[in-house]
Amino acid sequence: MNIGIDIDDTITCTYETLLPMIAFNYGMDLKKLFLQKPTYKMLHSILPNYENFVLQNFSTMAKIVPLKPNVVNVLTRLKDQGHRIIFITSRNNLEYGDPYKLSYNYLKMNNIPFDKLIVNVKDKAKECVMEGIDLFIDDNTKHCKAVLKSGIPTLQFANSFVSENSKVKRVNSWDEIYQKVQEMYA
Ligand SMILES: [Mg+2]
Repeated sequence: MNIGIDIDDTITCTYETLLPMIAFNYGMDLKKLFLQKPTYKMLHSILPNYENFVLQNFSTMAKIVPLKPNVVNVLTRLKDQGHRIIFITSRNNLEYGDPYKLSYNYLKMNNIPFDKLIVNVKDKAKECVMEGIDLFIDDNTKHCKAVLKSGIPTLQFANSFVSENSKVKRVNSWDEIYQKVQEMYA
């Protein structure tokens, strides 16, 4: 089957990488910042000149961001079972310069198997339908709900800074995703 997967905060620890960069840049207390669990939306509205910070830092961050535990192992096993892996990310030209090249090189460098990479995606539900996605995995509640609404089974990767939504099934690790895929498509 075709598995559609988000990149930031789904396979990578983007939030955990971004917050220290913000704390350093804005002279903030990192511990306090983590405790406040600001959402991406909040960061955008609270931090002064955040657009500039994004332009100067996002493409660097995307090169160094660590993977979540066991991503490579699980995706390799899923690929070996014959599943197609399609990354669907909203990383855009404005914030990342060349999001395709950046993400492609990152995935290759980190030995992540994939069949296709789609960047600049605003409407993930539409993209999933066009790509014939059978299972979608993302951390973002809005994207998960939209894809689910289009009739595609969806798993939300749980992050501490995103509150639970009763409509979407949550998973806490890549091992759990592997188990879910085996159960769903045994
Ligand atoms: Mg994400």
